[in-house]
Amino acid sequence: MSEQDGADNLPFGTVRIDMADKVIKDKAEWKKALTAEGLYRCVCCDAELFRSDHKFDSGSGWPSFWKPAVDEHVKAEADNSLFMRRTEVVCNRCDAHLGHVFEDGPQPTGLRYCINSASLKFEKE
Ligand SMILES: [Zn+2]
Repeated sequence: MSEQDGADNLPFGTVRIDMADKVIKDKAEWKKALTAEGLYRCVCCDAELFRSDHKFDSGSGWPSFWKPAVDEHVKAEADNSLFMRRTEVVCNRCDAHLGHVFEDGPQPTGLRYCINSASLKFEKE
C-alpha cells in the first residue's frame, strides 16, 4: 500500500533510474554467482574443469581462472584463425570449446583462462 503511494510521488525520470538499478542488480547477481564457492563442470560431459578458488576478476566480464581444477581435464590448442594468435581451451574429455587462455594472468601461473560461462555448469559445494 504505502509502496504504491510512494511510487506516485516519485518525480519524472524514475523509469530511467529503475532501469539503471536493474542492470546494476543483474551484475551484482552475476558476481554473487561467480564468487560462490564451488566447482565448474563441463556442460557437455560433467568433467571437473575449474574451481572458484582459482577464479579472479579480470575485468573482462568473463569468468576468468588462473589454473584449471585438474590440469588433465583442460586442453589448450593453438588457434590461429583470423591471423590472431591465441590459445583455445577445450574440454579434454569431450572436446567442447571452453574459451581461450592468455598469458597475462596473475601469479603463480601468469595464465588467464577466459572461459565462456555458457560452457560451464556451476556446482555449489
Ligand atoms: Zn566436456
